[in-house]
Amino acid sequence: MNTERNKIAGWGNYPVIHSNIFNPENETEVTELVAKTNDIIARGNGRSYGDSALGTQVVSSLLCNKIIAFDKAEGILTCESGVLLSEVLTTTIPCGFFLPVMPGTKYITVGGAVATDVHGKNHFHKQSFSAHVLEIKLLLSNGDTIICSKQNNRELFWATCGGMGLTGFILETKIQLSKIETAYIKQQNFCCENLSELFSAFKKHNQFDYKVGWLDCFATEDNLGKGIFTVASHCLTKDLSLQKQNNALKEERKTQFTIPFFSPAFLMSRWAIQAMNFLRWRRAKSNKQVEIIPLEQFFFPLDSILQWNKLYGRKGFLQYQYVLPTNNAEQGTKEILQLMAVANDKCLLAVLKQFGKCNDRTLLSFPMEGFTVSLDFKFSPSLFALFDRFDEVVLKHGGRIYLAKDARMKTEMMQKGYPKLKEFQFIVKRVNSNNKFTSAQRERINY
Ligand SMILES: Cc1cc2nc3c(=O)[nH]c(=O)nc-3n(C[C@H](O)[C@H](O)[C@H](O)COP(=O)(O)OP(=O)(O)OC[C@H]3O[C@@H](n4cnc5c(N)ncnc54)[C@H](O)[C@@H]3O)c2cc1C
Repeated sequence: MNTERNKIAGWGNYPVIHSNIFNPENETEVTELVAKTNDIIARGNGRSYGDSALGTQVVSSLLCNKIIAFDKAEGILTCESGVLLSEVLTTTIPCGFFLPVMPGTKYITVGGAVATDVHGKNHFHKQSFSAHVLEIKLLLSNGDTIICSKQNNRELFWATCGGMGLTGFILETKIQLSKIETAYIKQQNFCCENLSELFSAFKKHNQFDYKVGWLDCFATEDNLGKGIFTVASHCLTKDLSLQKQNNALKEERKTQFTIPFFSPAFLMSRWAIQAMNFLRWRRAKSNKQVEIIPLEQFFFPLDSILQWNKLYGRKGFLQYQYVLPTNNAEQGTKEILQLMAVANDKCLLAVLKQFGKCNDRTLLSFPMEGFTVSLDFKFSPSLFALFDRFDEVVLKHGGRIYLAKDARMKTEMMQKGYPKLKEFQFIVKRVNSNNKFTSAQRERINY
């Protein structure tokens, strides 16, 4: 088995740690490795931002990447955990099936999607990833392999979805896909002059498959929370031009380019971002039409620039993603924007999404019915104090922050934000003896 010692980080490039990285190629190699190694954590494609997929010993799933079965009639896919969502889509889109829940990048693994129970821009319709998972094959710390689902070994299923790799190593997953007629999306943008317009837009438009808001964090006073609200739905064949109808399920791909090295910090300066925000706003203002665009352009706009995280420079960046219950979300978000308006650290990208009802069996899954906002900041030591102040607002309004994006949360925030933590820990204690599976994040927060 290929093994290396290297420096690794999450997508935010903070923190960076030295790890032994193991690259097993199949279930037997994973099982043998887990039997003889302690203090180990599964790692998918390292797209979580902080330290959840970091540890002294990391077992990468990337070479366990076989699609085991795809039932084209029922849209059911079974695959190993290292398969990327991009690979799932390449297999299923030509057959008229799509992943019901898609995060903002397709370069994550299926194992990572389950372990963080990812959400998309359609949570209010489709919940999170776990809602569409039929079965998980899980390797426990004692070497047993167990199949869990919503019917069998239910407790373990719900602890594993969102369980951040602490219940064991996910070997395989069976997923129910959704039907699509075309590889296109119809989307429409609405300009909102302030936060209350943005929240009202979300609450008013429920007939679309997807909703997302972009916030201009440089807008202040009467325009605090100014943003663009986007609605979108999958195109039906009849929505397309005759020419496109002949090839409705063929994906249109944009050319990709790669950021080869860490960029100088000025590229992500507040002035550069303000100029980009201005252009984005002007484009949305002048184009109010429904547009038909390829799936990729709607779901993964950032994926066309590979390694875009390097634009933030060598020190990396931090994301703060919180969720607040519906009734408090607008007020809480206003308070966070006000804190940002007077802070030296400026948020360079902010995205708002709506969460619908959640399955009440989930334990550490992030979503709750309400609104979530993600805020990206170039790394600076002063961010830690700012984020502590955000935490106070989030807790006051009954929310929590997303483990997949976190690199600095404190134990108290975790305990208060995740009321089912004790239940989760109880299950982990049973299946993860001697904390064989443990991550840098778990050690830091002590959860
Ligand atoms: C540009 C971008 C946009 C994003 N947008 C969204 C979004 O819209 N919604 C959202 O929910 N998230 C989003 N994310 C976060 C991302 O989807 C999650 O962090 C996801 O878990 C990353 O998958 P990964 O394969 O890279 O896993 P990693 O980052 O490698 O690991 C994440 C966690 O999963 C565990 N894990 C990985 N594989 C396994 C396995 N085989 N068995 C057990 N545990 C495992 C790890 O231990 C770790 O705790 C985004 C990330 C990026 C970079």
